[in-house]
Amino acid sequence: MPIRILSPEVASQIAAGEVVERPASVVKELVENALDAGARSVAVTIAAAGRTLVEVADDGAGIPAGELSLAVERHATSKLAHADDLFRIATLGFRGEALASIGSVSRLTLTSRPADASAGARLRVEGGNLGRVEEVGAPVGTVVRVEDLFYNVPARLKFLKQDTTERRAIDALLTRYALAYPQVRFRLAEGEAPSLQTSGDGDRRAILAALYGVETARQMLDVTYEEDGFRLGGFISPVALTRSNRREMTFFINGRWVQDTPLNTALLQAYHTLLMVGRYPLAVLFIEIPPEAVDVNVHPAKAEVRFRDPDKVFSFVQRSVRKALLAFTPVPQVTPPSLWGRTETVRPPDGRPQVDAAWVLGHQDGDISPASGADQSPASMPQASIESRQSSIPNIPLLRLVGQIGATYLVAEGPDGLYLIDQHAAHERVLFEKLMALHGEKRLSSQALLTPVNMQLPPAAARLLEAQLPALEHFGFQVEPFGPNGYQVRAVPALFGNADPAAALRALVEDFEEDEAPLQAELEARVAGRVCKRMAVKAGQSLSPDEQRALLTDLEACASPRTCPHGRPTMIHLSVDMLERQFGRKGAR
Ligand code: ADP
Ligand code: MG
Repeated sequence: MPIRILSPEVASQIAAGEVVERPASVVKELVENALDAGARSVAVTIAAAGRTLVEVADDGAGIPAGELSLAVERHATSKLAHADDLFRIATLGFRGEALASIGSVSRLTLTSRPADASAGARLRVEGGNLGRVEEVGAPVGTVVRVEDLFYNVPARLKFLKQDTTERRAIDALLTRYALAYPQVRFRLAEGEAPSLQTSGDGDRRAILAALYGVETARQMLDVTYEEDGFRLGGFISPVALTRSNRREMTFFINGRWVQDTPLNTALLQAYHTLLMVGRYPLAVLFIEIPPEAVDVNVHPAKAEVRFRDPDKVFSFVQRSVRKALLAFTPVPQVTPPSLWGRTETVRPPDGRPQVDAAWVLGHQDGDISPASGADQSPASMPQASIESRQSSIPNIPLLRLVGQIGATYLVAEGPDGLYLIDQHAAHERVLFEKLMALHGEKRLSSQALLTPVNMQLPPAAARLLEAQLPALEHFGFQVEPFGPNGYQVRAVPALFGNADPAAALRALVEDFEEDEAPLQAELEARVAGRVCKRMAVKAGQSLSPDEQRALLTDLEACASPRTCPHGRPTMIHLSVDMLERQFGRKGAR
């Protein structure tokens, strides 16, 4: 074929392809336009998951009637005048492409009225063809109605996913924008009842519940941090709250949602050693940096950005998250209130408040266990911006064993006070690290059972286990199908001696049922975590002094001795300082 210049229709469809991939991309562009126009309220209405209708109505600045046709032209924008401006972009849009692109692959109706106009104006675009501008009655602001997306590009239509998937993409998008712009009222509705509605009162926590559900939202920790011109705000999950995939890590940079950023890695590094292998944090982080420090003009849908100094941003995020996290995840220190019935805040010698409030003691039984974040009201969430006294998580100090209490906890003395160690959690951690290390070195040996153990499972669970057999084999299990829905366990990892393997496998299957399809690596870590939980010594099991000492020594050797593989703490620390205050040797009392 000879070389030819493409017809304008084909060229514009190609260009549109970069910007408009699915209904959610239309929502994104229109919402960004509304926000750029200074809207205080953004109402999105969709039908058929956005295939037949996406309408975005805002109360922003509006477009003068005389500029309506320009607005839908390619490379026509009010947000950029000079090439230099590209390097200090403060608006979400700047390419002047969105409306043109959307108009070329749908039936678009643009209705708008600026505050100073006595009437509104309307323009229709169909498959890229502009109609005439008509005067209409309209409220101040803009309504963009996009009907029959891709009606003229059937090939694109075929790439759309199921309605539920497309709808989920729109939900996810709008919820995140709502969170990024808490001062703006957002509404999303398909039919009458809105699926998302925010108040615009600036309260991010309330919106967080729409993203994660009330329970999870309540556990999320606040982060606010500032360092020479860089600002970070938002929410991160405590180490005990994780997901099996990376999907819940969201970053906004200067009000723009960016995906696939190296910042994901910075976030993961901040959690390093605190999470079990294959578990990922949840985070919604809003980063503000000077516009000239970031190039937003690198991706057609503006979903990626480039930093002028990537290392600086990277380490800023990593350090701030780590600090926030440590502020919430020290070895839980016992705060006096419920243990000794006082309600006074312990202050370390330098006078800064202690930041261990995320660990609240049980109230009913005087139990010295850190309660989950769920027991806290959002209002009592300490601000993570308070600097932690720890700059990194050191390994635990050498401990001197004092003994075992309640056949459940070990008591030990360290250089700075008393440590209570949960024997089950500690043993879980020890087994997990040993197992993963041996697994990594391919030195796992298995030990045949004298009497093979038979187990029956419900059909669905049996299918699940069947799929996991190869992973189990890696860890030294030998499990074979034994009749319909039945299995016979013939060998277990040598590390486990003679604990009950059937119980461990059953627990494993339950765990799989909760979560759909874990990836191989994380699956193995999960198998290991589960199995260790089952094999670890239980609370209530008395240990000989030698066993107690061995457990302590093993724990000291762990890379992450402070949490069990599921993120719960293995130990509680009562510092000398705190003891002295409690006994009135020091401080005001
Ligand atoms: P860009 O946002 O990159 O400028 P668009 O194609 O999205 O390009 O929009 C073109 C122009 O139309 C914008 O620059 C803006 O002036 C105007 N416009 C679009 N949507 C709105 C809106 N909701 N309210 C006010 N003006 C708008
Ligand atoms: Mg735009």
